[in-house]
Amino acid sequence: MATAPRTTLTFLGAAGTVTGSKYLLTVGDRRILVDSGLFQGEKKWRLKNWEPFPVEPGSLSDVLLTHAHLDHVGYLPVLTRTGFTGPIWCTEGTRQLAEIVLRDAAKLQEQEAEDANERGYSKHHPAQPLYTTADVEAMLGQFVALEYDADFELTGNERPGFGADPDERITIRLTRAGHILGSASINVWTPTASVLFSGDLGRREHPVLKPREIPAEGAPFVLVESTYGDRDHPVPVNLPHEGFADVIRRTIARGGTVLVPAFAIDRTEVVLKTISELERDQRIPDVPVYVNSPMGTRALRVYQTLTDELRDDLRPDEFVAIPDLTAVESTEDSIRLTEPGGHGPAVIISSSGMATGGRVLRHLEELLPDPKNAVVLTGYQGIGTRGRHLSDGAGQIKIRGTYVPVRAEVFHDREFSVHADRTDIMSWLAALDPRPTQVFCIHGEPDSAAALAARIKADLGVQAIAPRLGEVVLLDATEIPAHAGVRAVMTPPVARAPRQEVRGWFAYAPLTGPLPDGRPSYRLLTGAPGDEFDHLVSAAMGEGYGPSGPPVLVATSNGILAAQAVTWQAPWPEAPGGIG
Ligand SMILES: [Zn+2]
Repeated sequence: MATAPRTTLTFLGAAGTVTGSKYLLTVGDRRILVDSGLFQGEKKWRLKNWEPFPVEPGSLSDVLLTHAHLDHVGYLPVLTRTGFTGPIWCTEGTRQLAEIVLRDAAKLQEQEAEDANERGYSKHHPAQPLYTTADVEAMLGQFVALEYDADFELTGNERPGFGADPDERITIRLTRAGHILGSASINVWTPTASVLFSGDLGRREHPVLKPREIPAEGAPFVLVESTYGDRDHPVPVNLPHEGFADVIRRTIARGGTVLVPAFAIDRTEVVLKTISELERDQRIPDVPVYVNSPMGTRALRVYQTLTDELRDDLRPDEFVAIPDLTAVESTEDSIRLTEPGGHGPAVIISSSGMATGGRVLRHLEELLPDPKNAVVLTGYQGIGTRGRHLSDGAGQIKIRGTYVPVRAEVFHDREFSVHADRTDIMSWLAALDPRPTQVFCIHGEPDSAAALAARIKADLGVQAIAPRLGEVVLLDATEIPAHAGVRAVMTPPVARAPRQEVRGWFAYAPLTGPLPDGRPSYRLLTGAPGDEFDHLVSAAMGEGYGPSGPPVLVATSNGILAAQAVTWQAPWPEAPGGIG
């Protein structure tokens, strides 16, 4: 009987950070990517978007998407431009929103490259966009929409060269995740493993959408987001969004403008609904409200059309019940909005939500220097983003190459989050049946992911770790293979063959035999993942060994074991006695 192909999982993004979600599943020769997100925030992460993808994109058979946020879909046009021609599976909502998000991302990148070239602040000459509108248009035909709560077999038969091998068949099921419209958790069953991707999880209730559901089947291996894995969202002490209402009242009274940077997708809808409720309840005066985000306006239309996604108690027109609401379309109107004398007191909702780009930048340039204005941040602000700097109380922020003083009032309304907090995540995990045996805390900053892993171990008694970027896990291993077997596992299933520079007499050195002083030239370091294991690896590096391939996690009956193969990389030592 032929042995069934092994299933491995590689963390290619959102490990050690919140953005760049990409998880590679391999089943024998078959490669499937779950999410294809852009790295955002700090430069060291953003630069990764420009690195070659770790496997040949043309060798991927399928891409599965949990939802349409840029940090989950924003890398797709690079994949398709560089050779991925397979289907992209997601819900209908994700398909529609992803098109809006990707077109906008391409346009932004084209504009930024143009801007940088004009103003000369790019280090690259000429500055290039990561991808263009044409790249996005070329890939839209690859999306395939799926229903929630139904099983789909990915046979790989959609195109030549893939599929037909029953040993590599894969079944998936999407479950409502309640984070943004179309968002899903994804169960994946391979012939040898079962794994559940939480995707970004909503809170137990969403102001506009149907609430998240617990997947009907749990899995031994679960990846769970940990954006807020170390904290709970504040429970409003008085009325909901009283802080936001208060800022609007104060700012309008002093003749200022309230600028609300908001993600175009979902956040704009939720902010509009909130303002409409505040006005209805007369907690704020009726003020002119501008939605200055063409993407936000387009997304709103999707929210109003895909009514199956909405809460049962919500009418599609309910979240636009604002008497004085204007959607700003043209760039000229956008610029005029915050020019001196542009308008009286008003609320402007504009993207992007972390002020990393988009129309909100010009408004910040105009509004931040004046103390009568206010900026209200509405959600998670990634490290290194302008939104995070503002939230942390920066006195000045850099926009398009120049520093802008921050004199306007800055308020961070954390009630707007549509990410599950620690309690929400724990209740989702605890409800899974069967319970997971291994949980991977992904999509969180390192502290947050580690704190959640510790909480899961303590409260649920389940193994949990925060994986490192590039780690490979064997999902179907039940025990540590024998030494030879472990070496087989160590062959990186996805990374390009490590290139070792060999020259001169070093080329003749045996790569696996012992060193002249008796030490092995190849060692396999194993231990429980964590600081102690890291020290073990660093000690070996100190001696003269270097890593051979990425670190690997092996699931064993006693939990997770970390393994790192190292080979001797320093000059060949002399044999005792001095004769080399
Ligand atoms: Zn998201």
